[in-house]
Amino acid sequence: MIARHGLSASKALGQNFLLDGQLLDRIARVPGDLSGQRVYEVGPGPGGLTRALLGAGALVTAVERDRRCLPALAELNEAADGRLSVIEGDALAIHEAEAVGAGAHIVANLPYNVGTALLVRWLGGETWPPWWRSLTLMFQQEVAERIVARPDTSAYGRLAVLAQWRSEAKLAMKVHRSAFVPPPKVMSAVVHIVPKAAPEGVRAGTLEALTAAAFGQRRKMLRRSLQSLPTALGALETLGIDSERRAETLSVGEFAAIARAMDA
Ligand code: SAM
Repeated sequence: MIARHGLSASKALGQNFLLDGQLLDRIARVPGDLSGQRVYEVGPGPGGLTRALLGAGALVTAVERDRRCLPALAELNEAADGRLSVIEGDALAIHEAEAVGAGAHIVANLPYNVGTALLVRWLGGETWPPWWRSLTLMFQQEVAERIVARPDTSAYGRLAVLAQWRSEAKLAMKVHRSAFVPPPKVMSAVVHIVPKAAPEGVRAGTLEALTAAAFGQRRKMLRRSLQSLPTALGALETLGIDSERRAETLSVGEFAAIARAMDA
């Protein structure tokens, strides 16, 4: 398909394609049984993962920037009896909930910077549960580890708190760099994220400001790193949390409790 449509990988678009059918089927199984389910795929490229998602019985809406991929995707759509609809454009610019509709599983293998920007958007906002049902996302392994990290590790930071305070985030599988064409420099991993009940009375905006300050100076004690947020310092006192601790020692639950107390 790639050769027939002349789809040489573009470095500028962060294109590293997956072509191993068995591996792609395994990724398509990460969100669970997709038969009759709606899936939003970001960056389908020539459609390796799209084919696996359609093979699993999903109805797929895909957004792709590279118009060279559109004929290959049109072929896939024909073979799948019209279960694939493709939007040509930038995933960062489209209004997804409207384009895709609520309740879709999101699946993506994206360039690192686009993937992280979308993840932060999908995990943010005051409305919870979100419009999507689950996220199955390929990242550089180092980023995947930051998303699922536990306290008291060097990988634990903003991304972990953001991903875990009202979602379950798991590392679903590691993917060797040699599985991609062309192979990227680093290893990759698939992360699976499912929303859970949000803790009562916690605003996402407050938690984001809190984690940005706390991890902005992660080596400092909280009483220093949170100096710009007096309400956070007050919350530490109210909750009896030692202000000489560092951000990476606080559990996700403690961050949520501090954010709640900041708005109380
Ligand atoms: N999903 C395919 C696979 O697994 O083989 C392709 C993966 S490749 C790493 C990333 C794809 O995302 C490319 O096809 C690229 O053109 C597309 N892409 C990059 N930035 C994008 C954006 N902002 N919006 C939509 N697609 C984008």
